[in-house]
Amino acid sequence: SPIPEYMLEVLDDCRNTDGGTVADYIPELARANPERLAVAIATPEGALYSAGDDEVEFSIQSISKPFAYALALHDNGLEAVLAKIGVEPSGDAFNEISLEDETGRPRNPMINAGAIATHSLIHGGNWEERAERFRRRVSILADRELQFDEAVFESEMETAHRNLAIGYMLRTVGILENDPIDIVRGYIRQCSLTVTTRDLATMAATLANGGVQPQTGRRVFDDLTVRQVLSVMMTCGMYDAAGDWVTTVGIPAKSGVAGGVIGVLPGQVGIAAFSPRLDEHGNSTRGVKVFERLSTDMGMHLMEVP
Ligand code: GLU
Repeated sequence: SPIPEYMLEVLDDCRNTDGGTVADYIPELARANPERLAVAIATPEGALYSAGDDEVEFSIQSISKPFAYALALHDNGLEAVLAKIGVEPSGDAFNEISLEDETGRPRNPMINAGAIATHSLIHGGNWEERAERFRRRVSILADRELQFDEAVFESEMETAHRNLAIGYMLRTVGILENDPIDIVRGYIRQCSLTVTTRDLATMAATLANGGVQPQTGRRVFDDLTVRQVLSVMMTCGMYDAAGDWVTTVGIPAKSGVAGGVIGVLPGQVGIAAFSPRLDEHGNSTRGVKVFERLSTDMGMHLMEVP
């Protein structure tokens, strides 16, 4: 088929974009092979194409945030979630302690403050139960039993001072109602879920398909939940480069510090790319290149008048 061949060509074109560095504030992530590069495309009809290091496993990190947000919406409804977490882009770095002045709400669920609050809304009695509920749900999206990376989890817990500080801040203003250590631990476990680029594309395709898993036909999230998640990804998904991304690539997306990126073209396609070196915003340098290229070639930009 011409599609995998085209994908190999895209990877080759993006391979020499080697700026940036592998995340090292989580010691375990610093051990990643920086040369890894993969891309995968999944359709709502259930087709899945991939190339490069597409079976290499890495931790989902912040790409867990939109899926945790979907689960929190599913568990609590939109109104209850909006009472705790806003939907405005912050323009700040992902780990900024950025809360709204009047309400104390984190500005959106894609920055850590909002993601920690989001995690606390997933139903479950403690960190392990919430993380496990998240793992099960995301496994249905990937149509594969996903596992946590214990080494990444332990490693991030050891250096989690900043996320703990955010947790305590959220507890002080009443956005978190329980033990911030328990909640941050669950959030970090959520981030340590192990995925491949193929898994991520499949998960993205479920969002592209309005919440119905393409291969199994199973409805995992309802339409309005998916619409809410994609809207927030569109404005807040790419850290403080969200505006840059919307203008150049033009589709809702989310990146993670292990080097993964997902993008969703509603009704059309779910895409994932992976390469561990990150640019100054914390987005995969080559991952961004792959998406720019795909967006141009496939005419994916949502603001393009057909
Ligand atoms: N677990 C990471 C953190 O909270 C996720 C960051 C990311 O992928 O942006 O620092």
